[in-house]
Formats: sequence, C-alpha cells, structure tokens
Amino acid sequence: MYLILLGAPGSGKGTQGAILAQRLGVPKVATGDLLREAVKQETALGKEAESYMTAGLLVPDEVILGLIEEVLQSPEAADGIVMDGFPRTVAQAEAVDRLLEARRARVDGVIVFDVAQDELVTRMLGRAREQGRGDDTPDAIRKRLEVFVEETAPLNAYYEERGIVHRISGVGTILDVARRVREAVGA
Ligand code: AMP
Repeated sequence: MYLILLGAPGSGKGTQGAILAQRLGVPKVATGDLLREAVKQETALGKEAESYMTAGLLVPDEVILGLIEEVLQSPEAADGIVMDGFPRTVAQAEAVDRLLEARRARVDGVIVFDVAQDELVTRMLGRAREQGRGDDTPDAIRKRLEVFVEETAPLNAYYEERGIVHRISGVGTILDVARRVREAVGA
C-alpha cells in the first residue's frame, strides 16, 4: 500500500505514520527526517536545505524532487510505503504519481489529520522544549503553519477527486487517533 499522510506540522503524522507502517509491514519515510539528517551530516543537500528549514519555508521543489525520486525508486519501497511530510506541493504530488506509475503502482490512500490551529502551536512549542528542534521557534512555527495552508493544504483537492482521501480528527490520545487511522485505511 502506498499511503500519504497529510496534515499540518504538529498534527501527529510522524507518530501515527510509524504505528501504521509497522502494522502494514512497510517503511515509513519522512522527508523532514531525511533532510535533518542531511543537515547534520553536512551533505550538499543538507547545505542547500538548511536555511529554508530554519526559516520554516519549504525546501524548493528542485532540491527535494531528487530525494523523493530516490525514496520511491528504492527497493525498500517495492511493496508500499507510508509517506510522511511529502508530497507537500502539487509539483511533488505529480512526481509521486509519475514515480509510482513507473512501479505499476499508485497512491492508494491519503489520510488527512484535522487539528485546530492553537492545538498545533501548543504541541509544537512542547516539542521544541523536549527535542530542541531549530524550526520549532515561535516565528518558524507561524511560518510553517502559513506555508502548510498555502502550499500543502491544496493537495486535498488534488486527491479528493480520486475518492482516496480519508479525513480524520487528529485530536485525542495516540491510541484513539491510531484506531481512526486503522479504520480509515482498513488495516
Ligand atoms: P517536517 O519534519 O516534515 O515538518 O519538515 C521540516 C522541514 O523540512 C519543513 O519545514 C521544510 O523546510 C522541510 N521539508 C520536509 N519535507 C519537505 C518537502 N516534502 N518539501 C519541501 N520541504 C520539506
């Protein structure tokens, strides 16, 4: 199964993606994690991406498309994958479609996590205290939420017309939300 988790930063995609991927026996891949690792390792990709990430902006498609290609062409993704944090723009969604088609596969489902804006901010500030993520500062948080609404939320419509969008509430305990996710994808 090829599944996309779509939700604002702080909506619980990462946590729920890990639970779902384990249940399905497929890898969960988060472009945010790959980018943070690239920054840490000071690779060329990391150097290009870092300033955008710190500012709460999306890393430009030209930079990220190669990474998405690498992920979806890898042998690990042969039986399916849970995509966390990508696609984030229409150009990325088109690339995902193209790459899956080359594997004779398609996006099977998109899970949209609904969480109110002030709850998102509270969660991200909490995470900043626990993990010290550089982009969980108040300014970057505001920017990331704005960017989500402007650039990523429109993907809803992109997938909606295919009838593969499952919208669930991302509020409640981890187990509550995990149950909704499971029911949504019939896993
Ligand atoms: P995340 O951990 O998914 O919230 O991602 C953290 C940051 O990494 C984002 O604010 C972006 O700067 C960057 N990023 C992660 N995934 C993508 C993507 N698919 N496209 C563009 N930028 C991304």
